[in-house]
Amino acid sequence: MESVTDNPVIIAGGGIGGLATALTLHQIGVPCVVYEAVREMRPLGVGINMQPNAVRELYDLGFSEADLDRVGLPAKEWALVGLNGNDIYSEPRGRLAGYNWPQYAVHRGLFHMMLYDAVLQRIGPQAVKLGSRVTGYRKNADGSVTALIEHADGSTSEANGALLIGADGIHSAIRAQMHPAQPPIHWGGAIMWRGTTWGKPIRSGSSFVGLGTHRQRVVFYPISHPDPKTGLSMINWIAEVTLDNAEGWKQSGWFRQVDVSDFAHHFDDWIWDWLDVPDLLQRADAIFENPMIDRDPVPTWQDGPVLLLGDAAHAMYPTGSNGGSQAIVDARVLGAAMVEHGATPDALAAFDAKLCGPISQLVLRNRGAGPFGLLNMVDERCGGTFDNIDDVIPPDERAAFMAGYKQAAGFAIETLNKAPRTIADGAKVRATATV
Ligand SMILES: Cc1cc2nc3c(=O)[nH]c(=O)nc-3n(C[C@H](O)[C@H](O)[C@H](O)COP(=O)(O)OP(=O)(O)OC[C@H]3O[C@@H](n4cnc5c(N)ncnc54)[C@H](O)[C@@H]3O)c2cc1C
Repeated sequence: MESVTDNPVIIAGGGIGGLATALTLHQIGVPCVVYEAVREMRPLGVGINMQPNAVRELYDLGFSEADLDRVGLPAKEWALVGLNGNDIYSEPRGRLAGYNWPQYAVHRGLFHMMLYDAVLQRIGPQAVKLGSRVTGYRKNADGSVTALIEHADGSTSEANGALLIGADGIHSAIRAQMHPAQPPIHWGGAIMWRGTTWGKPIRSGSSFVGLGTHRQRVVFYPISHPDPKTGLSMINWIAEVTLDNAEGWKQSGWFRQVDVSDFAHHFDDWIWDWLDVPDLLQRADAIFENPMIDRDPVPTWQDGPVLLLGDAAHAMYPTGSNGGSQAIVDARVLGAAMVEHGATPDALAAFDAKLCGPISQLVLRNRGAGPFGLLNMVDERCGGTFDNIDDVIPPDERAAFMAGYKQAAGFAIETLNKAPRTIADGAKVRATATV
């Protein structure tokens, strides 16, 4: 007689979602193996936000404020500014807003490596198989699942597991097999250029600033504490324009390094006494071009012993700064479902029932500009230029708009503060069901 928890859970993808899942399963006593396509883990990406709901889960996973301060810094403010430099909206973030947990603005690559190091230390190097791409799966008569794996050297193999978690990102092979008729990637016309530049943090010293209109804007925020010697922080920035998408995305690939001269002309005259956007762009270390893409929601993320999680389940526009946070929350909700139902398809069904509907709604809501929707309202009502924002959108209307967004995204302060831990301290999965 074999307990299902003796048969490991296979995780396809060692990104933020896959590694958070591995750490969670280890914490609750479920063996797991991560198969990751890249041959070598490297600190890739630029800025990403960890919302208080995700930071709470990171603390419950044993990461400390000091750990997070090494890869980012607590965010203090979220602000929207119009084209003439006047404030549209600002609000405190994290603990300053009344959450019991901070929000962190982190370097995606360093944060990812922090999770990877924790997996290696806590579970061991055998828990992550690099250079191993999961190309599909086979459901077995005994209820288990076989992952089909292609290795970097071209060889192939198979691995059996109690469950398979598809955490393989927006181009997920697991999702493609689960939903063969899914439409291609959706691009709404926005292109983002992302980079980092050392600079002096403005406003609160840790402010997220969205500046411009919904068709052309710059977003920037620091992702490191200031260097004590220079006072400079690493500033993450995203320059964005929206084009006509009628002919679809013409470039090959969805992510490529580009030269600043490819796009800086869109922002030539974006200079104020408190900000010089051309200078910010010109001094960047490296710049990446990303069309803003997501996927149309699917009705379910589960196929028997197989589940989608993170971007594989719900790739979303980054307008709400919640893609990375949701991947962490997913891992924890899955862990809680396993504590209740065991490492079984029932746990996957509970996860699917809880999150697929509401998070799919959030994907569509972020398509409609997410919290940047306020910029659309300003644009529609006054063409983007105003003296006093109260004459354009009264304070109550601004507050109601943001409250509606936060409730939907799971950021509502009181709800989060009052919610019990997602996974109770010390909770373990019972080794119950048999195969
Ligand atoms: C290289 C990279 C850089 C990024 N940079 C940023 C950024 O700067 N800012 C931002 O907001 N977001 C960034 N993102 C996206 C962000 O990390 C995700 O939106 C979010 O964290 C959700 O994480 P995820 O684990 O679900 O997906 P991802 O982070 O996309 O991770 C998926 C992982 O699965 C691996 N993989 C893919 N296919 C397979 C397969 N078939 N078998 C096995 N492994 C597979 C990938 O190599 C990757 O490690 C980046 C993602 C990546 C992969």
